[in-house]
Amino acid sequence: MPKLIDLHLHTSRCGHAEGRLEDYALEAERGNLAGIGFSDHFPLLHTRDADLSMSMEELPSYVREVVELREAFPGLWVGLGIEVDYLPETAGRLEDLLNLFPFDYIIGSVHFIDGWGFDDPRYVSEYSGRDLFTLWERYFELLGDAAESGLFDLLAHPDLIKKFGFRPREDVTHLYENCLDRVAAAGIALEVSTAGLRKPVGEIYPSEDFLRMCRERDIEVTLGSDAHRPEEVGYRFGEALALLRKVGYQEVVVFESRERFPLSL
Ligand SMILES: [Zn+2]
Ligand SMILES: [Zn+2]
Repeated sequence: MPKLIDLHLHTSRCGHAEGRLEDYALEAERGNLAGIGFSDHFPLLHTRDADLSMSMEELPSYVREVVELREAFPGLWVGLGIEVDYLPETAGRLEDLLNLFPFDYIIGSVHFIDGWGFDDPRYVSEYSGRDLFTLWERYFELLGDAAESGLFDLLAHPDLIKKFGFRPREDVTHLYENCLDRVAAAGIALEVSTAGLRKPVGEIYPSEDFLRMCRERDIEVTLGSDAHRPEEVGYRFGEALALLRKVGYQEVVVFESRERFPLSL
């Protein structure tokens, strides 16, 4: 297996993850990874929920700790990233805030549909009575909006809307196509995330057919576990690698100072 980099790790700061940064780094060394990138949750701008993200006051110490970790583990590539929620109503305030820090990459995520945290287990009951096709349509529309916002280097777990296994009966192919045409035109990368393997849906984000459509459009991809505890670093990367190769990917990308570099698979 090639030496890979896991670009999507959290820290205990976000309120729903655990472990010290060093523990993540040690786990990466044990798992023979070439590197790790932290991408903890950026403070939410539309609400304050200590179970979902760090506060604005904690951001400078997060940045400092990641930079210090880099010095403590010279043999490991350590990236400074951040995972930012995309909401149309707050997107305009993000750029100035994100420019305050020397991030290597900025991950955009859609976790909210019109104010509802649809992937939050606390609010899962809200799926009942919803039209799933309309929901999926709205999700992929927001993902396309996030791609076009120009704020992000990559988008996380691209078909997160399948998390709990609720799928529309209708064919969703054209939802994927419309979204991916926008992603390709925006030139943004997408994440292949093994987090879905730990969730009720039990599969990688995105699905094989979605990833094939990415490949057809030459959309570049990254690799992430979305680890919320040290033992999840590089989580089941062998399966992600097999999927990537199966659909024809020969490399993934990583970022330094917001510039892309290829990593061979
Ligand atoms: Zn999280
Ligand atoms: Zn994440």
